[in-house]
Amino acid sequence: QASGIRPGNLEDPEVASLFDSGDPDRIFEELRAIGHGSFGAVFFARNKDTHESVAIKKMSFMGKQAVEKWLDILKEIRFLWNLRHPNIIEYKGCYLKEQTAWLVTEYCLGSASDILHVHKQSGLREPEISAICSGVLQALDHLHSLSRIHRDVKAGNILLSESGAVKLADFGSASLICPAQSFVGTPYWMAPELILAMEEGNYDGKVDVCNLHRTGRGKPPYFSMNAMSALYHIPQNESPSLDPGGRDGWSPTFRNFVATCLLKSPEERPTSQVLLNSHPFLTCGRSPNLILLELITRTKAAVRELDDNLNCRKMKRILLTEE
Ligand code: ADP
Ligand code: MG
Repeated sequence: QASGIRPGNLEDPEVASLFDSGDPDRIFEELRAIGHGSFGAVFFARNKDTHESVAIKKMSFMGKQAVEKWLDILKEIRFLWNLRHPNIIEYKGCYLKEQTAWLVTEYCLGSASDILHVHKQSGLREPEISAICSGVLQALDHLHSLSRIHRDVKAGNILLSESGAVKLADFGSASLICPAQSFVGTPYWMAPELILAMEEGNYDGKVDVCNLHRTGRGKPPYFSMNAMSALYHIPQNESPSLDPGGRDGWSPTFRNFVATCLLKSPEERPTSQVLLNSHPFLTCGRSPNLILLELITRTKAAVRELDDNLNCRKMKRILLTEE
């Protein structure tokens, strides 16, 4: 390779230190696919010795762009290995086997996106959205205090644990430096200043705040357009508002929260810390943990009711730990 980087090579001690030794096929058993991503698949598995449930993200660095894939894998591990926070998915190790990295983390029931899918008809309730946003903001506040940026906050990357805790996950797009400049994320969810940073300037953790409004809803604004048009419209137009012409009945507090997260100018948009400490939508009283335990119970009941024909293998996995 021109760069001199050989994917899978562990001669560099810093790189070698990122990986655990041992054959992951001998350490883990009962692998079951539970999610798919750009890189490959995520599996549920159990540690043979401790019987602990884990999630394994298998990331291959074979074939085309092997160097880029390898560097992305190293970046994700470097981001995660020394993070410890109750609202960030817990890192448990990483193994190398046959041109594939196995990134092991604590196991969660599913993502906010999976849960939204189960409650497609009625959607999530405001206290549930508030509880999820509080957890995500705690995680973001921690990341931002370390001058890091997630850059891909969305329902599919927010997980819920069996005990009703919110866990921010998927650091495949994250930045270890702040301010940052590069064009990274998922087009429809990008903050205006991140799109504009292609041409001018840079951005900081406030792009994560902007993305927060995605937590409680299905599709992003501009979803009917192709991604390139959306990239044009996000910085050009006024900020979108909560379900224009859609379901009514949102409280003024929630509408204000969404509008605040979506403030176009990053100078006006509050930081994760300010939002967390002062927005009334997040300081409404009941324990977020209890609200989320109820949401999990409600979701499991809804999954049980689902017609088996309705494609619902994916949703059934929310019940996996009970089976
Ligand atoms: P990608 O970078 O491709 O988006 P993610 O890390 O977001 O990959 O994982 C993809 C999906 O796999 C998630 O949306 C979620 O449904 C599932 N998943 C990932 N990690 C876990 C976990 N620790 N526990 C349970 N499910 C997970
Ligand atoms: Mg993801």
